[in-house]
Amino acid sequence: MRRPLLAGNWKMNKTPTEARVWFAEFLEANPGYAGGAQTAVEVAILPSFPLLPIAAEQLAGSSVRYGGQDVSAHDWGAYTGEVAAAQLADLGSTYVIVGHSERREYWSESSELVAAKAAKAMENGLVPILCVGEKLEVREAGRAVAFTLEQLEASLTGINLATGEELVVAYEPVWAIGTGKTASAADAEEMAAAIRGFIRSRYGEEVASNIRILYGGSMKPTNTAEIMAGENVDGGLVGGASLKVDSFSQMIASV
Ligand code: PEP
Repeated sequence: MRRPLLAGNWKMNKTPTEARVWFAEFLEANPGYAGGAQTAVEVAILPSFPLLPIAAEQLAGSSVRYGGQDVSAHDWGAYTGEVAAAQLADLGSTYVIVGHSERREYWSESSELVAAKAAKAMENGLVPILCVGEKLEVREAGRAVAFTLEQLEASLTGINLATGEELVVAYEPVWAIGTGKTASAADAEEMAAAIRGFIRSRYGEEVASNIRILYGGSMKPTNTAEIMAGENVDGGLVGGASLKVDSFSQMIASV
């Protein structure tokens, strides 16, 4: 049985002071997460890098996980502006996003680079949340599934999975991110099933049945339960709606 995961991608939002308040209010509103016991829904927050020490401090002893929004494909060295997987791991991170469409688009990240980042994250004990998804013109041309599986295959170059718990896939149709448009629950399930089928063909049944596949793109309290009803959709990568404690808490409650 796969445990649902709701991961909040804060993107470039919140000061350290605001983050401290968010964590405190979240644990107050969701006391089941404060004591560290396993909850029915796993929650992770992916804030920008300067907020990670705050997450480490405020979430200590809780069952809320955290991690970065990106990671370098290099170990260490002269790579100004980059953040090493070992640095994220040393701060207690569990997850790191790789291949978010904003990074693919604005920083021209290729799927091969995304695969190298995912591999580096895994070498350091982090679980990559690997994002894939099509643009609107690709969906309108009827190529959404084919495109997304090609992108996934390229983003998994050289990645070996033994159990399926080492990596999470997030299907994020680019046209649904931050736009208020959401894929229909049927489209999200169709894609998640196709992704699981691809994982099965490449890594076998055990990996396919364990790996978690998230949907992302304008998820909010009113559509979470419907999207997650699909048997292959194991949770969500949530942008805007994770910035407020009440909307994110409502989403957790509705899972
Ligand atoms: C995201 O950026 O991963 C995302 C899903 O954003 P939003 O929920 O705001 O569409």
